[in-house]
This record gives sequence, structure tokens and C-alpha cells, in this order.
Amino acid sequence: MPALVRRRPAAVDKVPTTRDNLRKSLLSWYDSNGRELPWRVRGAAAEPYRVWLSEIMLQQTTVAAVVPYFERFLARWPTVEALAAAPREELLGAWAGLGYYSRARNLHAAAHALAERGFPADEAGWRTLPGVGPYTAAAIAAIALGQPANVVDGNVERVMARLRAVETPLPEAKARLRELAGELVAAERPGDWAQALMDLGATVCTPKSPKCGACPWMKSCAAFTAGAPETYPRRAAKAERPRRHGAVFLLEPPALSPAAREFWLVRRPDKGLLGGMAALPTTEWRAKKWTRAEALAHAPAKAAWRKIGAVEHVFTHFALTLDVYAADAAPAGDGWWGDASALPTVFKKAADVERGPEGPHARLKARGPRGKR
Ligand code: SF4
Repeated sequence: MPALVRRRPAAVDKVPTTRDNLRKSLLSWYDSNGRELPWRVRGAAAEPYRVWLSEIMLQQTTVAAVVPYFERFLARWPTVEALAAAPREELLGAWAGLGYYSRARNLHAAAHALAERGFPADEAGWRTLPGVGPYTAAAIAAIALGQPANVVDGNVERVMARLRAVETPLPEAKARLRELAGELVAAERPGDWAQALMDLGATVCTPKSPKCGACPWMKSCAAFTAGAPETYPRRAAKAERPRRHGAVFLLEPPALSPAAREFWLVRRPDKGLLGGMAALPTTEWRAKKWTRAEALAHAPAKAAWRKIGAVEHVFTHFALTLDVYAADAAPAGDGWWGDASALPTVFKKAADVERGPEGPHARLKARGPRGKR
């Protein structure tokens, strides 16, 4: 009986799949297709301050959202010493809208340490700073220090899961995906390698519709060869995000300025979500809905509060519904009058809820500027 000969698909026979060839093809793709970003330098080591600042901003935030913040921060605080010397409230105000506000508090704390002790010389040194986790430390070591660090985020996990068609679902597969990424790291061009992999994941090997036709790894990619690459990485069934409820209070001054719409603002406690940020007064955010009477017991003034709507906001670990109450009155307790422009997004959404024809600014608009009819 003739021996059974198993043939590999012709495409795989022809295609180089070695580590060196994978590296060569991705780096050459990066040289022509890598994104131009304001914190990037080509052909030289990038400045640690710029890399650190950009990497902190990029944690859980898109490049498009980060670019204008990065440019504004750098124009206002061009060095780590300048950033360390900035009052914390100013830094938190400049961060408003970027989300995940603990990053801004950590950024300020780390700026103090960096201004005092200088920039760390390796990945382990960066890990000791507030707000710098394993990914960020590895990215800074690779990009700013030129060290062969294994830089693995969600993009890199996705690319590795597809390149090798890893069947184990996330999050269980994380260690294996990290190992696979580590096998491709080398001492040659470590910063470019890390950024090439990030760019591939962000622009070509995208979560929903990977552009395999434009991918330098197409012929080596196991998920592409098998078909349906978008089904990788495999995922364990997701638990639904819990919902919380709260009420937020738009208190406006009884005597109105036609120039700006101002609200009574408070400072949130340092610990917890949006800690240390300027905010609209709110109730606690809890699983059970608030009745009107329960909510108004937390209002910043005794007034004729009207419920004018509700806003939805999604945080990482829960979805929030906030009932929006409005009134014009003198406040009680600590706070100040200010506009909503430097508030976290959830509060900006609440401030944008229209108050209808009875609202003081609507009345003012109807009368025209300076109260003239
Ligand atoms: Fe991703 Fe497609 Fe490239 Fe595979 S071929 S790495 S699935 S873009």
C-alpha cells in the first residue's frame, strides 16, 4: 500500500515564514506606510518626555483623539520640569475630555518624580512610576531608549492571534500571544519594530475588516490562509456591562450673564472615578434607580428643581444613566461658578441637555442680549 503523503498548501511552501522574513517584511512596510505622528521621530531615538506623555495619553484612547491634546500639552508644558511645576487643577483642566482621569493625576505625580530624578534608563525603572504599567514601560524602553522590549497591547494580541491562528480564546490566550510577540523582538530597530506592529494592528489588521490585501504578512498569516481572519482572536463569552443610575444638578446663577452659561461646579474627591476633577454636583452612582425625592436630597440648593432629561454614558466597567435636574438659585456648600468646557465628557453631556422655553438662558435669548426686548 502506498504511503500516505500529506501535502502542505502550495502557498505555504513558497512563502518564507521565518522570523527574519517576518521582521524584514514588516519593517520595510513600516518604512513606507508607518503613520506620521507628532511624537514620532524616524531614524533617531525619540525624546523620553514626548514618548512618555504620548503613551500615557494613548492608554485606552485613540490616536485621533490624542493628537490635539498632545500638541496642546507640549506647547503649554514643553519639558517635564514645566509639567511638574504646573498646578494640578490646570493639568486636570487641560486633560478634560480625554477620559480616564486617574491618568492625569498619575501623570502629574510621575512628572514630579521625573523632574527630580531624571528619566529612568530601562523598562524596570519606568515601571516604578505612577501610571506606567508593563505595556507603557515596554513601549518607552523600545521607542525612547532603543531597547528590545516586548511591547504587547490589544492590537498586537490581535495580530499575533491571526498570524498564528491561535484557537485559545482571550483572555486565556494572553500569555501565549505575548510569547509569540516576544519571539519576533530583536535588538535591531526595537522602537521601529514596536511602532510597526502597532501601526499594522491599527491601520491594516483592524478588528472588524482586516485589509489583508495590503498586509505585508498576508502570505504567512495562518488566519488569512484558513479564511475568516476577523474571527480571531477568539473570545470567551462576555458578561454584560452592569448599569448604574444617578442624578446630576445643573444649578445656574439667578442673575444671568448673557455672555457665558455658567453652572455651580464642585471638585470630586481624589479617590475614585473622575477623582480630583471639576464636576457638576451629582448623587452617588448606584445600581438602584433614584426616586425624585431621594435624588433631590443631594441637590446643591433648595430650589424648584425640574427634571429636564437624562444622559447616557459608558465607562469601562459600567454604563451610567444620569437624570438631569435644573434650577436657578443660590447654592449651599463648597464650589464655584464656571462653564462646562473643562468638565469630563459625562458632565458636558448633562450640561448640553436643553432646558426648554422655561430655562433662564432660553428666556434671555428670547429677550435678546442684555435683557432688551
Ligand atoms: Fe491581519 Fe490579514 Fe495581515 Fe493576517 S493577513 S495579519 S489577518 S491583516
